[in-house]
Amino acid sequence: MRIGLFGGTFDPIHIGHLRAGEEVWEALGLDEVRFVPAFLPPHKRRGDLTPFGHRLAMVERAVAGVGHLVASAVEAERSGPSFSVETLAGLRAGLGPGPRFFFILGDDAFCDIESWKDYRRLTRYADLVVMGREADRERVAAVIARAFPLHRPAGPDRFEAAGEGGVRLLPVTRLSVSGTDIRRRLAAGRSIRYLVPGPVLRYIEDNGLYRAGDGPGLPEGP
Ligand code: ATP
Repeated sequence: MRIGLFGGTFDPIHIGHLRAGEEVWEALGLDEVRFVPAFLPPHKRRGDLTPFGHRLAMVERAVAGVGHLVASAVEAERSGPSFSVETLAGLRAGLGPGPRFFFILGDDAFCDIESWKDYRRLTRYADLVVMGREADRERVAAVIARAFPLHRPAGPDRFEAAGEGGVRLLPVTRLSVSGTDIRRRLAAGRSIRYLVPGPVLRYIEDNGLYRAGDGPGLPEGP
């Protein structure tokens, strides 16, 4: 099994995440991509984070009926902040040495990786897949050289170290959509149709999420 793990706050999940996950699944010949909402993201201390149950429910609706895209509640089982290295270690312990994990993240997130807990241990459990633009290759390569000094170039976009998962840069379409923009539109009473899948839009409406003043997940100020 080749399993992609795509972490994020997913507040809410949108077509940018989904398209990127689909392209990584296709490019790397994965069996499935699991979207893993963070229970408590260590890096995003927004007081208005939408409760985990809602964020997970939106991910479930976004991927319903697509066999190779899966919603994962693995980070709900933890009480403290959601550290990726602990999630990966837990999955490895639970599933054994068989599956190969591909930890998927955007180049923006990757360039911050040196602030993550035990980031060098990530490649003990998984290959890292850094989604990025060609134009950002130099910047990502510089972070790889610093953060993963044992990894050596093994091709134009691949870095490998003996006995460890590799680190690779994978260009994917980055649709110009963000959770922040979606939350702001909703708070202003504007439409987000086509920025999220229909079932996610319905869930947001049915549960009154992201409305100014009265729901969970209030928007940040400008
Ligand atoms: P926010 O605006 O609330 O910060 P976001 O839309 O950036 O949210 P996150 O849940 O923080 O979404 O992102 C999770 C992962 O998805 C990150 O690795 C990020 O790089 C990636 N990502 C975010 N938006 C896009 C997009 N439009 N296309 C591809 N990848 C994306």
